[in-house]
Amino acid sequence: MADTAQFGSRQVPLADKQALVDDVFRSVAQRYDLMNDLMSFGLHRAWKDALVTAVNPPKTRPFALIDIAGGTGDVALRVIEAGGEGARATVCDINPDMLAVGRERAAARSRVGVVTFTEANAEALPFKDRSFDAATIAFGIRNVPRIEAALAEAFRVLKIGGRFLCLEFSAVNVPGLAALYDAYSFNVIPALGRAVAGDAESYRYLVESIRRFPKPRQFADMMRAAGFARVSFQPMTGGIVALHSGWRL
Ligand code: SAM
Repeated sequence: MADTAQFGSRQVPLADKQALVDDVFRSVAQRYDLMNDLMSFGLHRAWKDALVTAVNPPKTRPFALIDIAGGTGDVALRVIEAGGEGARATVCDINPDMLAVGRERAAARSRVGVVTFTEANAEALPFKDRSFDAATIAFGIRNVPRIEAALAEAFRVLKIGGRFLCLEFSAVNVPGLAALYDAYSFNVIPALGRAVAGDAESYRYLVESIRRFPKPRQFADMMRAAGFARVSFQPMTGGIVALHSGWRL
């Protein structure tokens, strides 16, 4: 079927997916960070640490990061903490409720002006070509209806020599773990979503969308098709997540 997209386990018209995704994140925004800790037993912090290590923000020169689908600013704040005084981060996200939580967090950590927040669609970023030293997207790309468009935009806004890093749920590659992970994901996570965020359906979508996301090799090919060079990926925690990397050369 032409012009359809996967929304969790459902095929929906491509044009409808974004609004459905927006409903999910509007619903979960206030509890998003707490739920991340609960659902992943805090593991998302280690995965994000690996992402920040790969970004490797310099200590002594200016550095501009764009964190795409950056939500509540978690990755951007971590990169700023790891970088030097010249580090700046632009968080863009399509969802104003996620951004509002992020602005509050940045203010609470005295990072106003260092981390800035822009409402924007990853498929059409409102920034000039070659504006950023690094582009990150964490647990965001599978929510974007046109993944190819988002990859092309990340490539466009990167400076030559800039690096793109994508952290995303992936395909579990340890047999025993796969069964356990499925049982946990499909039973415990929606129940946790209902108990903590008052919303089981949104968390069911999050679990289903993970299963539908391209496998690491296939996603690496999509990155190459967007123009990225030296594409590589690193599975983590038995393949629960993968960190993809590519360069604009
Ligand atoms: N990167 C953050 C993190 O790791 O904590 C947030 C990840 S959250 C699972 C996914 C985010 O993608 C949401 O904030 C959602 O609003 C955003 N998103 C979904 N579709 C988007 C789009 N087309 N453009 C920009 N952001 C989008």
